[in-house]
Amino acid sequence: MSDKMLKFVNIGQQTPPKRKASNRKDDFNEIYNEFIQEKAGEQASRCSQCGVPFCQIHCPLSNNIPDWLKLTAEGRLKEAYDLAQSTNNMPEVCGRICPQDRLCEGNCVIEQSGHGTVTIGSVEKYITDTAWKEGWVKPIKVRTEKTQSVGIIGAGPAGLAAGEQLRKLGYQITIYDRYDRSGGLLIYGIPNFKLEKFVVERRTKLLNDCGIKFVQNFEVGKDATLDQLRDKHDAILVATGVYKAREVDLPGKDLANIFSAMEFLTASNKKGLGDKVELFDNGTLNAEGKDIVVIGGGDTAMDCVRTSIRQNAKSVKCLYRRDKENMPGSAREVGNAEEEGVEFIWLSSPKEFIGKNKVESLAVDRIKLGEPDDSGRRKPEIQENSEFNVNVDLVIKALGFDPENLPKLFNSNDLQVTKWGTLKVDFNTMESNLPGVFAAGDIVRGASLVVWAIRDGRDVAESIRRFLEQKELKTSKVA
Ligand SMILES: Cc1cc2nc3c(=O)[nH]c(=O)nc-3n(C[C@H](O)[C@H](O)[C@H](O)COP(=O)(O)OP(=O)(O)OC[C@H]3O[C@@H](n4cnc5c(N)ncnc54)[C@H](O)[C@@H]3O)c2cc1C
Ligand code: SF4
Repeated sequence: MSDKMLKFVNIGQQTPPKRKASNRKDDFNEIYNEFIQEKAGEQASRCSQCGVPFCQIHCPLSNNIPDWLKLTAEGRLKEAYDLAQSTNNMPEVCGRICPQDRLCEGNCVIEQSGHGTVTIGSVEKYITDTAWKEGWVKPIKVRTEKTQSVGIIGAGPAGLAAGEQLRKLGYQITIYDRYDRSGGLLIYGIPNFKLEKFVVERRTKLLNDCGIKFVQNFEVGKDATLDQLRDKHDAILVATGVYKAREVDLPGKDLANIFSAMEFLTASNKKGLGDKVELFDNGTLNAEGKDIVVIGGGDTAMDCVRTSIRQNAKSVKCLYRRDKENMPGSAREVGNAEEEGVEFIWLSSPKEFIGKNKVESLAVDRIKLGEPDDSGRRKPEIQENSEFNVNVDLVIKALGFDPENLPKLFNSNDLQVTKWGTLKVDFNTMESNLPGVFAAGDIVRGASLVVWAIRDGRDVAESIRRFLEQKELKTSKVA
C-alpha cells in the first residue's frame, strides 16, 4: 500500500483524513476511490458470513449483503452487482450517503466484536461504480407494453424508484416535477461532496432511456390540479417530499442575509452543475470570505457548515441548543465538520438578529439542560444573564422541514393529512383516502432517508400494480 493511502486507515467510516480547510479541495476523492478499489475485495473478504445477517436485517432494503460481499471477495463483480441491484434501485447512491453507522454497518457482527465493521457502503458503491464503468447497467427492456398509465408527482428517490419498478412491468409512466432537473433532494439538497451530481444525472437518464417520461418545471397545484392528473392517469403517486423550512421567529428575522438551508444548498448545487445563479454570482449566497453562522444540529446543518467551508468562508460557526451527545445529526458528520474547522457552539440559542439593513451580529443565550420532557429528552433552558454576541455576515437556518399544505396546494380539500401535515395513507397499501392516489417517501414519513424513500417507492409500486390489475379486471368485466 502506498504512503498516501496509508493515511486512510479509517476508510470504512468514509471519514476524510485530518486536513486544513484551505487544502480540502484536492485530489482527495481520486485517492479515496483508488484506495477503495484496492480495499474493496479485502473489506468484502472480512465478512465472517456470520449466519445471522444483522446487517441485512438493519438495511431498509433487506439487501443481501453477505452474498454480495462474498461474490466481491471472489472477484465475481458482475454477479455481485446483479444481486445488489435486484433489491436497490440506486445502490451507488446508498453506498455513498446512507448513514451506515446507524444501519447496516452499525449492526455488523465484526463491529460488535470490536474489530471494526466491514465497510459495506463503500463496497456497495464500488460494485455499482464498476458496473457503470463496465457498461453492465442497462435501461430496462419492457417485454409487454401496457396501456394503463401512472402519473408520479415528484422526481425524488421515492418517485424514481416507484417509476422504475412500474415501468419494468410495462406501465406508462410520467413523472412531474416542479424543479428543472430530476432527483429531488439528491440533486438540489445533498451537496456534491457527499453525492456527485453526475451519479444522479446518469441514473435519471437511464430511466428516461427506458421510456419514463419526465415533465420538468411542472408544479402540481399551479400547472394542473390533482383532479386533472387523476383524470389523465389510471393511478397517481404523490412523492413530493417535505419542503416547508422551520422558521426562527426572532427580532430582526427580516434583515437581509438570513437564508434557509435549502436556499443556500440549492444555490451551491446549481452552481456546481454549471448554472448561472444570480444570488451566488453577486456574492449574496456565496460564503467565501464571510463569517457564517448555521443554526441547527441535524444533517442538513452539517451539510451547510461543510459547504461553507468548501466555499472558503472566513469562519463557520454552528449554534445548537443541546450538547454534542444530543445532536440529531450523525456523529460521523459532526466529526467530519469539526476536522474541517467548523466551530460548534453547543448549548446555545439565538436571541436576536442585529444589524441595520443586513444582519451584522447575533445575540445568543447560553442554555442548560433541564428535566426530561415528554419525549424523554432533557429540555433546553435559557441561562439567565448569559447573553453573548457573535459576528456574522450570513446566517443559514437549518432547523428541519415540515410538509407543505398539500390539500391547499393541490386544490384538493378532500385529501386527508395527519396532524403533522404528512399524507394520511393506509399503511398496508400506501393509498390515500382518495381512490387511486398513493403516496410514498418523506411526504408520508416526514423528513427521513434516501434508502427509506427507495424502499417506499418499491413497496408502493407493488400496491399500485395490484390496484391497476383490479381496475383492469373490473373494466373488462363491464365490457
Ligand atoms: C440537505 C439534506 C441532506 C440530506 N442528506 C441525506 C443523506 O446524506 N443521506 C440520506 O439518506 N438522506 C439525506 N437526506 C434526506 C433525503 O434526501 C430525503 O429523505 C429523500 O430525498 C426523500 O425522498 P422523496 O422522494 O420522498 O422526496 P424528495 O427527494 O424531496 O423529492 C420530492 C420531489 O418532489 C418535487 N415536488 C414537490 N412538490 C411538488 C409539486 N407540487 N409539483 C411537482 N413536483 C413537486 C420536488 O421538486 C422534488 O423533486 C437529506 C436531506 C436534506 C434536506
Ligand atoms: S442500502 Fe444503505 S443500509 Fe442498505 S446495505 Fe446499502 S448502505 Fe447499507
